[in-house]
Amino acid sequence: LRVKLKHVGCVGMCHQVPLVEVVPNEGEPTLYAKVKPEDVKGIVENHFNPPGILGKLKNKLFHFAEDIQTDRNWDGVQRYEISMREKPVASFLGKQIPIATEYRGIINPLDIDEYHKRGGFTALEKVLNSLTPEEVVEEVKNSGMRGRGGAGFPTGMKWEFVKREKDEKKYLICNGDEGDPGAFMDRMLLESYPYRIIEGIAIAAYAVGIHEGFFYIRAEYPLAVKRIRKALEICRENNYIGKNIRGTGFDFDLSIYEGAGAFVCGEETALIASIEGSRGFPKIRPPFPANKGLWGHPTLVNNTETFAQISYILREGAGKFSGIGTEGNTGTKVFALAGKVARGGLIEVPMGITIRQVVEEIGGGIANGRKFKAVQIGGPSGGCIPAEHANTPINYESLTKMGAMMGSGGLVVLDDTDCMVDMARFFLSFTQDESCGKCTFCRVGTKRMLDILENITSGKGKKGDIEELEKLAEWTHKGSLCGLGKTAPNPVISTLKYFRDEYEAHINGVC
Ligand code: SF4
Repeated sequence: LRVKLKHVGCVGMCHQVPLVEVVPNEGEPTLYAKVKPEDVKGIVENHFNPPGILGKLKNKLFHFAEDIQTDRNWDGVQRYEISMREKPVASFLGKQIPIATEYRGIINPLDIDEYHKRGGFTALEKVLNSLTPEEVVEEVKNSGMRGRGGAGFPTGMKWEFVKREKDEKKYLICNGDEGDPGAFMDRMLLESYPYRIIEGIAIAAYAVGIHEGFFYIRAEYPLAVKRIRKALEICRENNYIGKNIRGTGFDFDLSIYEGAGAFVCGEETALIASIEGSRGFPKIRPPFPANKGLWGHPTLVNNTETFAQISYILREGAGKFSGIGTEGNTGTKVFALAGKVARGGLIEVPMGITIRQVVEEIGGGIANGRKFKAVQIGGPSGGCIPAEHANTPINYESLTKMGAMMGSGGLVVLDDTDCMVDMARFFLSFTQDESCGKCTFCRVGTKRMLDILENITSGKGKKGDIEELEKLAEWTHKGSLCGLGKTAPNPVISTLKYFRDEYEAHINGVC
């Protein structure tokens, strides 16, 4: 058969994998979902017409079920045949705007020619050849882009702080340390869009005046490390990094640092300590990394997703980016949609979309006919927002007001079978375990809160436990040095706010 086989990056539809798409020279492509090895024969025979077999099998192929969850039977094998144009796929993709995930499912992650064909590196060429570093910073500021790592600090302003520093030596770090339960945004971006991220980084380096940078990627992401390593090699060969980039006289190179998997190393100062070879302890700020970071030099640290959006801004213009989303919260945000939702996956949505739209329209509602109860947004340090507040728009301020946070983009959907006290216990057990132990309140306060939650969920709760939890949550928030400790009580605070009756039911022995 004259067939070209191609690997592509993440399509986002984790609820349908493995996916196989057959793209004919003419006509519409067909996408097969949940493909098993034994399905391959049928797929090949259906599309490539080996004599004598086609007619028999073709009649047995399914043309789309309205409900993608419905199992169909074909020779006793459960399968789906789906087309990108059909309704369930359209509703999964319809509200999404791919910027960081542009050309998802189309480009081979390491094929630089394909990336070129889709406008890859045109932003970098434009920046190097026709814009001053100041103009680049200004464009990013005008886009309204805010750091996608969680805190939402304006990206252009951060670049300007580092740029203003007079030090000859400055560093750049791409923060790819992701450890939240239920989150896989950085992993998928690094595995699927290595060139887009490298292009964004090179643009930032030029704008700020940096000649050396690092990818900080956790070692548990071996495919991400492998792809980035290969992409760096190819970019060096094509002179998108290295000496005298594209003949413009600008030098910049990147290397990879593999993190050992401590959640706290996602915090900038702990990450820097880790690269320096020290234990990943956060430091008191100031000084901020922008002024005094890696080995004492000004350092620009941005999240992977932030860099993945930069080339779009410079290629399409700040106005186009800022036209997406809402005022003060422009552009898109990538989320790992997981939990009890019918259609989980990696999604990229405009800022300002509501939680309900994400869960019901993109996610297809709750799986197995259960009832939507809440979402945990922002990873283990985020908070639970109940279904009755699902019309809350997704932006930095609204989520914080509701007791949750954007975080790096974990979004876990919960149904009516989930116990919210147990949910709080689960997330707190994670942050407690990941506390670096430097601050007493984070080290001991979270432990004491966890003990109480374990007692409550195992039927040993007592009167006064809720008040004790509230006191400890407040002290831990106030007395912790870094974001991990400060936000660790969030799941407890938010579940106490919205689901206090569940705590009381456990303590009173009625559940
Ligand atoms: Fe370490 Fe927790 Fe203190 Fe952060 S708040 S420095 S994780 S002990």
